[in-house]
Amino acid sequence: MLIDARAAVALLRSGEIVAIPTETVYGLACVLTESAARKVYAAKGRPGDNPFIVHIASPGDLGTVAAALPDAAAELARRFWPGPLTLVLPKRGDVPPAVTAGLPTVAVRCPAHPVARRIIEGAGPLAAPSANISGRPSPTRAEHVTAELDVPCVDGGSCEVGLESTVVSLCAAPRLLRPGAVTLEQLRSVLGEVLPAEKTDTPASPGQKYRHYAPVTRLIMTDGSCPPDALLLVPEEENGRFAGRRVLAYTAATLYGVLRELDAMGEEYAYVYCPKPEGLGLALCDRLRRAAGV
Ligand code: AMP
Ligand code: MG
Repeated sequence: MLIDARAAVALLRSGEIVAIPTETVYGLACVLTESAARKVYAAKGRPGDNPFIVHIASPGDLGTVAAALPDAAAELARRFWPGPLTLVLPKRGDVPPAVTAGLPTVAVRCPAHPVARRIIEGAGPLAAPSANISGRPSPTRAEHVTAELDVPCVDGGSCEVGLESTVVSLCAAPRLLRPGAVTLEQLRSVLGEVLPAEKTDTPASPGQKYRHYAPVTRLIMTDGSCPPDALLLVPEEENGRFAGRRVLAYTAATLYGVLRELDAMGEEYAYVYCPKPEGLGLALCDRLRRAAGV
């Protein structure tokens, strides 16, 4: 069901869950209470050890959820907020454990989407993971949400970025936990050294251990070679190289729509050609590898 921003604020304040647009992907939002957060886990079928990102209306609200504000956090907020960057910091005691999946840290972002900001201004800080069934591609249009989840949704158009936010931990030496539209190169230009995500069984970003962003169509990674009649996903700027082939071109903003299109086409499998893992290409490679389950 589609609702307007004012109705969303009223529902959220009463402890209900609502899908809202952001510039990254649509989020399934709730206020910072244990009972509201549990409704989000249930609606998504999300594992209880995968924490949410808390969304704030303005950078100045960071101190309402984070217990420590290192200089690096202030500098990143000044450069990239509002925008597609999430900071992981020690959490304040009043952030409920369900929001952070029991972690002593909290992930915080100040989104740029004007509708998201209006809703957060009205309802207070909102916890919101992506508004999809756990493991499926993130929604980048309201109809992606309503096709999959029986929740009220505010339609804010197509998401401009189309990939989940960059996540960087500032709890120790800065570490990239998830690449996104704020690139590793941009983070390094502000922070100097930024460590890559650790590959361990208990990753610092719990969500990273789950298969993610996956369509029903099986995805097979390729360096360009594949059967002549196979369907091939390629970065839009390299489309020309594959003339005469069955190709779907993607950009960051259209990737998840393309993955959903594959399912609608009923394709059993598709080959995926990744861009160079630089700039935004790093985030695209990460999502495509996870969607392919490798
Ligand atoms: P989603 O909103 O569904 O894209 O998921 C949020 C992502 O942020 C997940 O990958 C989480 O693991 C990560 N995240 C949220 N809170 C924390 C935290 N406190 N520490 C590390 N990563 C986090
Ligand atoms: Mg998600």
